[in-house]
Amino acid sequence: MAECIFCKIAAGKIPADKIFEGEEVIAFRDVNPQAPHHVLIIPRRHIESVNELKEEDAPLVTKMILAAKEIAGKLGVAQSGYRLVLNTNRAAGQAVFHIHLHLLGGRTFSWPPG
Ligand code: 5GP
Ligand code: ZN
Repeated sequence: MAECIFCKIAAGKIPADKIFEGEEVIAFRDVNPQAPHHVLIIPRRHIESVNELKEEDAPLVTKMILAAKEIAGKLGVAQSGYRLVLNTNRAAGQAVFHIHLHLLGGRTFSWPPG
């Protein structure tokens, strides 16, 4: 997707603070962090949102979650706790329409979320 900012980050065309680079999945720090650690985990392939996921994307989604687990360990928040979020469409606050898993850690989160 030529105009997608996360496709550009995945392709290395615009800079990002990347902390994980796999064959199908990458992760980088959110430019506007909502916690001491705020990382976005994305597939290299453009998928707009959870609504566009297909059955055959199951291994890819698993890789995103496993990448999050690995990153949480490296950041030292695995034991204290962290939150994984997939905002989907407008009411949930999705602003970038390239699927991304938020990993938030390093503070205590409230529930229910805002
Ligand atoms: P959403 O609201 O779509 O779930 O989350 C999009 C996230 O992407 C936001 O937290 C926002 O700060 C982050 N973001 C938007 N543009 C960029 C960018 O160019 N670089 C990085 N690193 N994060 C971005
Ligand atoms: Zn994209």
